[in-house]
Amino acid sequence: MTSFFTFSRACAAHTSLRWLLLALAVAVFHPARAFERSDGLTVQCEIERNGERRVVSEQWLGHGESGDRHPALGGAAAVVRPDAEGWPVIYFDHVTVKGIRAKDPHMLDFIFYHECAHATDPALSEIDANCEAYLHLDRLGLMNEALERALAHTHRKMMRLPSRYGGSGAAFWDKTMACVSERRAAVLAPAGG
Ligand SMILES: [Zn+2]
Repeated sequence: MTSFFTFSRACAAHTSLRWLLLALAVAVFHPARAFERSDGLTVQCEIERNGERRVVSEQWLGHGESGDRHPALGGAAAVVRPDAEGWPVIYFDHVTVKGIRAKDPHMLDFIFYHECAHATDPALSEIDANCEAYLHLDRLGLMNEALERALAHTHRKMMRLPSRYGGSGAAFWDKTMACVSERRAAVLAPAGG
């Protein structure tokens, strides 16, 4: 028993050294920061363009102090903008994100996958980015009736939205769910069937 204990400790030390080296390599070669999901996992948004795979880099704006909201984001928690080479970058607003993480961390997961959908396909509409976010969380096992209700509530609270979001939070969510149903139906009954 003692030898097993010693062995596993040595092994654990070795593993953490490996992880440290890996983390250093990632830090040096990829300035991208990883996103901490509500289930505690650290994830990244990975995309592919012209056969090249890259982790989408994240930029955090503001310092997280109240009143320090970054004007470039206009109150949004996150946006995607292309860098000088045309690769997408996800910009997060520290203040807005902090508030959402405290109150509704699952909503923040939803926002992350919404932005990752935009980064994956810049031509995606807001409805389709929301639809992708929903389906992604569902595939990960991070969606259930209660979580869906909470997302619906958060969306419906937004009274007026630009037309690309359907004009209101309620319309945005209804269109998102219509897309989700359509996509699920397409999986169940492929074209021609
Ligand atoms: Zn969007």
